[in-house]
Amino acid sequence: MKYYVHIGFEVHIRLDTKTKMFCSCSTEEGEPNTHICPVCLGYPGALPVPNKEAFKYAIKMAKALNGKINETVVFARKNYFYPDLPKGYQITQHEPPLMEDGYLVLAESGKKIRIIRLHVEEDAAKTLYDSETGRQGENAFLMVDYNRSGVPLAEIVSYPDIHDPDEGVEYLKTLQALARYLGVSKANMEKGEMRADVNISVSTEPDRLGTKVEIKNMNSFKAIHDALEYEIQRQIKAIETGEPIYQETRMWDESTGKTLVMRRKETSDDYRYFPEPDIPPFKLSKEVLEIEPEYTNLHDLYKEVKSWNIDEKKVGFIVYSPDIYKALKYMIQKGVSPKFAVSMYLDEIKGQLEKVGQQIEEKHKDWTLYIYKLIEEGKIDNSIAKKIIRKAITHSKEPKDIYEAEFSGPGVSEDDIRKTIKGVLAQNPDIVKKYKDGKKSVFGFLMGQCMKAFGGKVPAATVKKLLGEELERV
Ligand SMILES: [Zn+2]
Repeated sequence: MKYYVHIGFEVHIRLDTKTKMFCSCSTEEGEPNTHICPVCLGYPGALPVPNKEAFKYAIKMAKALNGKINETVVFARKNYFYPDLPKGYQITQHEPPLMEDGYLVLAESGKKIRIIRLHVEEDAAKTLYDSETGRQGENAFLMVDYNRSGVPLAEIVSYPDIHDPDEGVEYLKTLQALARYLGVSKANMEKGEMRADVNISVSTEPDRLGTKVEIKNMNSFKAIHDALEYEIQRQIKAIETGEPIYQETRMWDESTGKTLVMRRKETSDDYRYFPEPDIPPFKLSKEVLEIEPEYTNLHDLYKEVKSWNIDEKKVGFIVYSPDIYKALKYMIQKGVSPKFAVSMYLDEIKGQLEKVGQQIEEKHKDWTLYIYKLIEEGKIDNSIAKKIIRKAITHSKEPKDIYEAEFSGPGVSEDDIRKTIKGVLAQNPDIVKKYKDGKKSVFGFLMGQCMKAFGGKVPAATVKKLLGEELERV
């Protein structure tokens, strides 16, 4: 039998504002319960004031998802009880959301995934369980850190247009990269700055959705991929054996590689949404509404990077890494060839930095430009370029200082190079004779001797050219 899989996502992205959604508390990390006030602790009578900055980011993201913007913001209370929610309700947008009927173009395949809505809301506090508090047994507590309470989020809900786990991961990677390109969120999944809940159904008819099961508690692309694979197989098996599939919420258990039931059936009616009385509906300002996203379609970027004719495997990595893409683009616009930019900046500089536990920074773009210029001018070759980069990293110096101190200046003029080559030839009369007798393979040996004599300070291409000339003259 053929099975049809439908997957949809609800993704929360933390908007990168300095202060919280409805108060002026900092959103920075800190000691637990230090960034709190009566508003984000839910004291009765404390009044929430919407954060304009959050709407600037949310509008940018909403427009990048190509939907219809609702210019009047209406906040609602979503009621539920949990220790991480001191007010007993979350302030969110219900109807209408900030944006509806949009779509996201997947970076690699170019496929369109329809977006139902994007809305703005506040985050709940963070609960820490035994494993995180380090307390066990009788001493175990559930601890709550309210620093996260009230941090602004954008929730993005997709249609179930996704049909397999790989496509699901591509959707999330595209969304994450887009948020980063726009600078609206750091969107680190490990830090909880991007969180994804997934709903999945399996059916035997292409146009009918099966029973929708939601999975929570996944905090990496791998966990999401694994959870989807498991759940697809679980549902197919249930259909084949005639077991019922319940509409329920399941959690992913990474240690066993299985999904487990958390709760059955939950609809939006359960939350008893009602209008937030402390924030009357308001129209967004012209300043906010006029914000336009710099990027909307990452598939265009994908095609562009592909046209650079670089290693196919690196294309996706570059597109999903906004800082790397922007840096390479900057260098290419300055005249560096894409191939060189990728091999020097990404493979060499970034690779060497990672070996010593350092991160690539702004200045490394200029390193690449400097090295490219030296090579263009014939002053160094690729192998010297690598030597300069490695020395610059290990000695925390600029490539310019390394080049000027060790690889340029007196001692390597053409006359000097010829002099050294002649010296090498004088020391190896037998080899030179062999060469003259037609045994051209000994050239490599002579070349090696010369390179050794120069200590790697003269470009191989220059040595090769001059060695060839000198051998003709002997
Ligand atoms: Zn606060």
